[in-house]
Amino acid sequence: MYAAIAAARNGSSVLLLDKSLVGRGGATIMAQMTVAAAISHQEPDHWTLHLADTKEAGRDICDGVLSEILCEDAPKRIHEMDQWGAHWAREEGHIKQVVAPGHSRSRCCYVDFLNTGPAVAGTLRRQVSKMETIKRLSNVAVTDVLVHDGQAVGAVGLDVIEGEVVTFEAKAVILAAGGLTKLYSRNSASTNMAGEAYALALWAGAELIDMEFVQFFPIAHLAPRLVGMDPIMWDPFRYKLGGRLLNGNFEEFIHLYGGSDAGKYTAVRDLASYAILKEVEAGRGSPHGGVYLDFSHLPEAELRGAFGPVIDRLLANGIDLTKMPIEVGPTAHYQMGGVRVNGRMETSVNGLYAAGEAVGGANGANRLSGNAISEALVFGERAGRFAAEQARHVTSAWNARLAAPAVDQVRTLQEHKGKSGVHPVTLQSELKDLMWENAGPFRTADKLTMSLARINEIQRHDFTDLAISRERQFNLDLQDWFELRAMLTTAKAVVTAALARTESRGAHQRLDFPDSDASFVKNQVLQLKNGRLTVGWTPVVQSQVKVVEI
Ligand SMILES: Cc1cc2nc3c(=O)[nH]c(=O)nc-3n(C[C@H](O)[C@H](O)[C@H](O)COP(=O)(O)OP(=O)(O)OC[C@H]3O[C@@H](n4cnc5c(N)ncnc54)[C@H](O)[C@@H]3O)c2cc1C
Repeated sequence: MYAAIAAARNGSSVLLLDKSLVGRGGATIMAQMTVAAAISHQEPDHWTLHLADTKEAGRDICDGVLSEILCEDAPKRIHEMDQWGAHWAREEGHIKQVVAPGHSRSRCCYVDFLNTGPAVAGTLRRQVSKMETIKRLSNVAVTDVLVHDGQAVGAVGLDVIEGEVVTFEAKAVILAAGGLTKLYSRNSASTNMAGEAYALALWAGAELIDMEFVQFFPIAHLAPRLVGMDPIMWDPFRYKLGGRLLNGNFEEFIHLYGGSDAGKYTAVRDLASYAILKEVEAGRGSPHGGVYLDFSHLPEAELRGAFGPVIDRLLANGIDLTKMPIEVGPTAHYQMGGVRVNGRMETSVNGLYAAGEAVGGANGANRLSGNAISEALVFGERAGRFAAEQARHVTSAWNARLAAPAVDQVRTLQEHKGKSGVHPVTLQSELKDLMWENAGPFRTADKLTMSLARINEIQRHDFTDLAISRERQFNLDLQDWFELRAMLTTAKAVVTAALARTESRGAHQRLDFPDSDASFVKNQVLQLKNGRLTVGWTPVVQSQVKVVEI
């Protein structure tokens, strides 16, 4: 939405497409915590300090150009959103900012308890609706970006309600289709985050960077069922209150893995993930395959003081923290890698841009909390602005014949009988389990090799003869088929990259290569060449910016 706004105010006519409802799908609306920007409202801060923290978390492989842009532009976007009525939480007139893990300053803005993402999405929706040159089209899943002579010229989509193929002519295309957490059976995101931006970019001829770096969140909510609340909401409360992590026998266990909770739950993320998964493996997990997080040792008044109105929303979900623990466990949460772009958000394909979580590199091997929404706002604004500039200068190379293969694909599927009896969603489930078990928080060459072999087999055999319902309207099989096609391509990119990085760094943990290796201070680049995924390496563009003393 920010990209659309920026493109429109720079003179473009924009079509904003979403496979879900525009402004209501994806991760943004689910995010309930904070947005990081060095606006110095709570205490003196500077974007170079934000950059230093981002680089430290990114473990030496942040793309210097992108991380500088992220940290320098974030304050501008926060202020612009404020003018648009985002209603950031305030205290004595200034925007309130809190410290989040890894940030050296009170830098993270929020709206109110659990309302940040919905408020960000709502603000952008209102702004989009005020701009006459932005047309919105919901329920259209983009299946292909069309490229002619190395130039993006449009796209093909599937109207998921009517079952019609739709073609789009465009002088510039921006991929802002979010992350890939749907590749994993355990994920914190909504169902429409199938990693399609990465697959669309690869098929169009663009490069991906650092796809091995999937961020896993150690204590995401598993059970009991939690409706309308952020599954990763427990993190700030564990810091504030000291929730106890207990295994299935209600025993503390972090100390067995070299960590220490010492009354407060402060064990670092990778150690906590490791310890939890090891307890589960040893048969000491909680019923839903995680461990317990317990606040019941704390007085009710203290809980109420810290949780505020959240405690009532938990009660409405049947969760009384004074009496019961909840179950938590590691879950796929965010993708640090992604489409490779320059500072103008241009991919290597002329006229093809990327924005938001779809972009890789800014956060290196690990992302600080609050940096992802900033990234969506900052990169969105730039992608829209530079795409509009491009659109002013190019003549359209559109030709309806370019869309013919993609259109024929849909028509063929609509007529397809499929003898296997297996529906695409069944293979999606298999793939998600495969990725969780073998390319999840802890990886080995054996497991990665096995999952790569199975992905190849699915692509070559199982995928070619799937059962597709003949319904024209609301044909979920058809939608799932296209999603699965992209999921397989993106999963292969993650696994291939994870195999090639034979070290552990940030979110990429190899049990067979547990240490970081200085020779891997480099970025991994993937590209499709003649249908084959190729792996290359490129030196990290290190930021040379010095921290400004304040
Ligand atoms: C539960 C949760 C909590 C989080 N909390 C925070 C937080 O507190 N702070 C923070 O900084 N970050 C947080 N994050 C991460 C952050 O929310 C995301 O990285 C960010 O919002 C991504 O924004 P985006 O615009 O790139 O993508 P999204 O908001 O995910 O939007 C992508 C859109 O693309 C659409 N789409 C996908 N594929 C297609 C296709 N083929 N055709 C058409 N449309 C398509 C989707 O329907 C979706 O609407 C959280 C994430 C989750 C899941």
